Amino acid sequence: MQGSTVQESPYEMALRQFDNAIKYLELKRGIIEYLRYPKRELTVNFPVRMDDGSVKIFTGYRVHHNTVLGPTKGGIRYHPDVTLDEVRALAMWMTWKCAVVGLPYGGAKGGVICDPKKLSFQELENLTRRYAAEISLMMGPESDIPAPDVGTNPQVMAWIMDTYSMHKGYSVPAVVTGKPISIGGSLGRLEATGRGVMITACEACKHLGIPIEGATVVVQGYGNVGTASAYLLHDQGCKVIAVSDSKGGIYNPKGFDPRDVLSYKRETGSVVGYPDTETITNEELLELPCDILVPSALENQITADNAGRIQAKIIVEGANGPTTPDADSILQDRGIFIVPDILANAGGVTVSYFEWVQGLQSFFWSEEEINQKLERIMSKSFKEVLEASRLKGIDMRTAAMVRAILVVAEALVVRGIYP
Ligand code: NAD
Repeated sequence: MQGSTVQESPYEMALRQFDNAIKYLELKRGIIEYLRYPKRELTVNFPVRMDDGSVKIFTGYRVHHNTVLGPTKGGIRYHPDVTLDEVRALAMWMTWKCAVVGLPYGGAKGGVICDPKKLSFQELENLTRRYAAEISLMMGPESDIPAPDVGTNPQVMAWIMDTYSMHKGYSVPAVVTGKPISIGGSLGRLEATGRGVMITACEACKHLGIPIEGATVVVQGYGNVGTASAYLLHDQGCKVIAVSDSKGGIYNPKGFDPRDVLSYKRETGSVVGYPDTETITNEELLELPCDILVPSALENQITADNAGRIQAKIIVEGANGPTTPDADSILQDRGIFIVPDILANAGGVTVSYFEWVQGLQSFFWSEEEINQKLERIMSKSFKEVLEASRLKGIDMRTAAMVRAILVVAEALVVRGIYP
């Protein structure tokens, strides 16, 4: 999927975005340096008993980028391409994401180098429990609260919660979010990231005067974020014309029902082959003419190589880091409106925050209440970022970063440097 230009690493990308944003702020050198680096990083190499009786060593990471605003928050990724550099970038983006929507958290991220599709249910449980035990020195309801990311799900969160609780000797539901409802998960969490994508996509359409009814939508990645984004936009009257997963994409300019595609994927393992659609590649999918493009798979999908061929009017970044800084300037010159990742996909961490609060007080809210609170936060944050972008004459990503960095920097100044 990557083109011929030299690919920047995710952390290099995150730093380039940071360096670009601080040009619009008057921050002291020491504060800038402080915010450029992760606060702490843990690498763990740990054994896992496999089904055939052998023992395999896996490598995992947990990174805390910043703790100025509160405990750290961020997902855990299971993927063969996980690197410390990637986890670092994702942790830094989490700091800005929490700040841009006003949550009392710093950023963190974790990951294990593995292919969860190749592990049995039992092996996945063994791996998760041991990884949770290894990172428990950095994790806790008051210090660092993980959540699902690529390759992890509510079941994985349940094992983490159980492992942590067994060590403590009592149940600690608030140690992770994105848990199953039966053990203190929040209503609305499963589709919260997609709901945030839908809300910000609608706000972007309103801003640009594009009618949401009939707006054409293309979604890359058909996992947690991609599916909910697709069917919630469909519910708003949009026409979903193409979606994809790691095996390829499907296209029908007349549109299709995203929930039916999800049932098909559950039965067959992929969206590819869904009736009445043309099979396309992920590269072709990104370049389809449409009103709204939602990249919701991995980083580095829209690069300097393909940015000139993107035909969407709006890009709403469901994934973290799907657009490189080089691609950003090309898209901006071409007048394509971007809702940046730290804003567009903040719905997930926002409802994770609600889940954490509900867990701490053992008092649970209705789904309606949760969705209303989420909508209020997402719409307000979108409007604030749009206003900052207008006032300073900068793009939406830079505006979101400027707002977020300012929030963290102000907290840092008022707290001071210890000792
Ligand atoms: P997931 O594992 O549920 O789904 C990922 C999807 O992407 C799968 O359908 C997979 O087949 C597809 N995919 C993988 N490689 C691909 C490729 N090269 N081309 C096309 N599709 C590919 O993961 P998710 O939780 O939906 O996360 C997706 C993105 O959203 C990630 O960038 C993640 O960091 C970000 N995100 C997730 C959440 C959340 O709440 N889960 C919150 C914020 C951001």
